[in-house]
Amino acid sequence: MGNSRDHDWTEARVAALSELWLAGTTGLEIAGRLGVTRSSVMGKLRRLGLLRQGRPRMPIMRRPQIPQMRTNKRPLPPPEPYQVPPPPPPPAYGTLTLLDLRHNSCRWPEGDGPIYVFCGRPQAPDSSYCEAHRARSMSGLARGVPYLSKSVAQA
Ligand SMILES: [Zn+2]
Repeated sequence: MGNSRDHDWTEARVAALSELWLAGTTGLEIAGRLGVTRSSVMGKLRRLGLLRQGRPRMPIMRRPQIPQMRTNKRPLPPPEPYQVPPPPPPPAYGTLTLLDLRHNSCRWPEGDGPIYVFCGRPQAPDSSYCEAHRARSMSGLARGVPYLSKSVAQA
């Protein structure tokens, strides 16, 4: 070799230098450990050809993968069928107030109280009353027909 600086580099130290360098230790750290200057370390590395070879690259960090939509292999259990809540029980026929009546509820008044209640059964076609009350309204059996059915009114 002939280089006067190489007198410090014993075989053991060169081995240590190589090992540290290849392990990724910086030149400055190696210099500190071996008690030499950094330039001495770098010079020796260059002469050993280790600088040109470079160090084993740090493993390239993989790009974090974009989380993909999970494709469920297993199909989800079928949703439970929507349970239509049962409608509240309609008021019993004959107890419906005016507010309870639908557009097709029988308008036949029931009871004698000051607050009228109505039959409320489904109206017969073309009538304000259900079949029974329409028949009753037309038979004359009704005591004091309060409302005429449409068919009677049109007659
Ligand atoms: Zn009725």
